[in-house]
Amino acid sequence: MDEPPAPDGAEVTDAADLPGARDGFERLWTPHRMAYVRGEKPSSDRGEGCPFCAAPQRSDSEGLIVHRGQHCYVVLNLFPYNPGHMLVCPYRHVPLYLDLDDGETAEFTALTKAALRAVQQASDPAGVNIGMNQGEVAGAGVAVHLHQHIVPRWGGDMNFLPIIAQTKALPMLLEDVRQQLVEAWPEPPSSAGPAC
Ligand SMILES: [Zn+2]
Repeated sequence: MDEPPAPDGAEVTDAADLPGARDGFERLWTPHRMAYVRGEKPSSDRGEGCPFCAAPQRSDSEGLIVHRGQHCYVVLNLFPYNPGHMLVCPYRHVPLYLDLDDGETAEFTALTKAALRAVQQASDPAGVNIGMNQGEVAGAGVAVHLHQHIVPRWGGDMNFLPIIAQTKALPMLLEDVRQQLVEAWPEPPSSAGPAC
């Protein structure tokens, strides 16, 4: 399953053989990292083969991890709608927001807000879509493991969900986006810290 990374300057890589949540888009970019294991399918109740259980087990760079908390973490979407498309996930393999305990819920919210601050600092989007799709019928690509989308938006990009077009140009490599967000990630709040 180990394949050499695409050489720099490669023009177009078809993502059709990558696992994950498909959204009908082809993407024009030059991926140089394989963030998720080839062939994994999120089918098990125990999290076997689940990309959101697998990602935190990798290095930050290989797993596209932006931030690790105690109960939840933030990862770049391998199939982003826009550059900086992050996912907030509990480490625990649960499908529903209602499955989170109090500690997970609090950190899920805190990391969502931190991610919003980071993306604001990193790329100053004109808007942001935030949301969870629970269940495949609701549009969840990996319904077995809860994740909250944070999608930065700019004027002239496409509509969030009802997108019909099949190709989307992504101007930044995932690792570059990840580094930018890590550098922009806010400091933990302190009583003496400046208000954000
Ligand atoms: Zn999982």
